[in-house]
Amino acid sequence: NTFAEIDLGDLLNQNIRRCKYVRPTPIQRHAIPIALAGRDLMACAQTGSGKTAAFCFPIISGIMREQYVQRPRVARTVYPLALILSPTRELSCQIQDEAKKFSYQTGVKVVVAYGGAPINQQLRELERGVDILVATPGRLVDLLERARLSLQMIRYLALDEADRMLDMGFEPQIRKIVEQMDMPNRGVRQTTLFSATFPREIQRLASDFLSNYIFLAV
Ligand code: AMP
Repeated sequence: NTFAEIDLGDLLNQNIRRCKYVRPTPIQRHAIPIALAGRDLMACAQTGSGKTAAFCFPIISGIMREQYVQRPRVARTVYPLALILSPTRELSCQIQDEAKKFSYQTGVKVVVAYGGAPINQQLRELERGVDILVATPGRLVDLLERARLSLQMIRYLALDEADRMLDMGFEPQIRKIVEQMDMPNRGVRQTTLFSATFPREIQRLASDFLSNYIFLAV
């Protein structure tokens, strides 16, 4: 019933305490162990449920264990290990903000990219290196065309507020993005999908992107 009972590692647990989180919320209590066990997950989650931590903790913990994974050395190309897609600038910034607090002093670098703002500064920021990229789908597609950014090493993919992303018409962009990470990493990648509703289109997305996943409704 406490975070210390979940195997997240000392550093992450310290950061969790620093954030004044004492007890996991229901979604955290159930989703985190499933993700730590390596399973794909589709979870029903509303804003305010604590879903951000639910997908961030396992990603940060995983990256800390894998920080020495050899990334290809291609001149100036950056290879993030995790991608979090979210529908809006506001939500993306909020996720980055929290993810940065959770990864304080871990060496895990979190970068955000969203539309409706000049792309050049985001390009420069990205090219300085990134472990966890938080992005809106449209801007990420633009960046993939312009930056030396590769999704080949993505080990963790989280889709936040997936129903809102589809409502906003981002499905083609999401599919394009996931296509870029499919080879050679299929089978290595862990995908989590969070949504408040589960219409047919979300179920289709889940069956296309997730493998052998657990469905969680709390
Ligand atoms: P979210 O649903 O991820 O947007 O989180 C809603 C709010 O609850 C945010 O301000 C979080 O920082 C906070 N929060 C998330 N998990 C916990 C927790 N286990 N204990 C206390 N606050 C939390």
